[in-house]
Amino acid sequence: MIHSAAPPGEFAGRRYHAWNDWVKRVHGGRLQKVSVDAGFTCPNRDGTLGVGGCAFCNNDGFTPAYLRRQRGILEQIDTGVAFLRRRYPGTKVFLAYFQSYSNTYGKIGRLRECYETALGHPDIGGLAIGTRPDCLPDEVLDYLADLARRVPLELEIGIESCNDAVLRECLRGHDFACTRDALRRAAERGLSVTGHLLLGLPLETRESLIEGARALADLPIDALKFHQLQIVRGTRLAGRYRADPASVPLMRPETYLDAVADMLERLPARVRIQRLGSEVPLEQRVSPDWGLRVSRFPALLDALLAARRTWQGRLFRPRDQYIA
Ligand code: SF4
Repeated sequence: MIHSAAPPGEFAGRRYHAWNDWVKRVHGGRLQKVSVDAGFTCPNRDGTLGVGGCAFCNNDGFTPAYLRRQRGILEQIDTGVAFLRRRYPGTKVFLAYFQSYSNTYGKIGRLRECYETALGHPDIGGLAIGTRPDCLPDEVLDYLADLARRVPLELEIGIESCNDAVLRECLRGHDFACTRDALRRAAERGLSVTGHLLLGLPLETRESLIEGARALADLPIDALKFHQLQIVRGTRLAGRYRADPASVPLMRPETYLDAVADMLERLPARVRIQRLGSEVPLEQRVSPDWGLRVSRFPALLDALLAARRTWQGRLFRPRDQYIA
């Protein structure tokens, strides 16, 4: 097999496959997700698997301010679209983004009602649906595949870590085999899947992240979102950090971007990178405060990849043929 000695042309001058560049190519402009809170819960909160949630989770930390007063789906979309139109005037397409908690955790009838309500809004051109891998029974995937034949649909699966010890430590309630299985069953139905990753969880190491990238490289994933671990008020991790800060070692920005670069090198060029980080509002964040806007991450990552003379996919080989 021949591998390129430079970043592929589809990277549009960058050293990684940026989702925004791909969106511009496919949609001819900006695509924006309008967050919707449809009132779902998750099995790690309602007592099915646990009640306290994953150790890092307090959904308020990840919910846009315009959603914090619960309202109906159409009203949330009205507010979100108006806000995003002011902020990003060139937006071509809006997707309703079912973001909070596990948005496939419910009876098909309820899922159908929520998604169809959003699709009935005149500004909404498709759906993005966030969930856990253990909330995707075949019946739900079949329904999503039907929907995806009608409208653009992105299924976002919370992977968080590919390491079972890390998943256990953060009380996630499922293992990586569950993620593999969900990804394969979604791909069998032709669904477009984005994986959500959280780098820096307790017990995660540079080696385990690299091993995770190798595992992901072999799976049918269309896009990935990278996030740095932030300790959010009201989470179990916040309690642990306050009691013993050394028990939750936090990454520095340079360590984090290095880890992202390590993973990108081992991921195939086809995987689009949708996010490189996030910012929990300061009033909800216990730590860290990097003093660095997330909007700077793409340029910093590109500079780092250039300094390392590397790019996404440089070390990717089909399973069992990695060179580093
Ligand atoms: S991160 Fe997701 S799965 Fe975990 S407790 Fe929060 S909503 Fe539930």
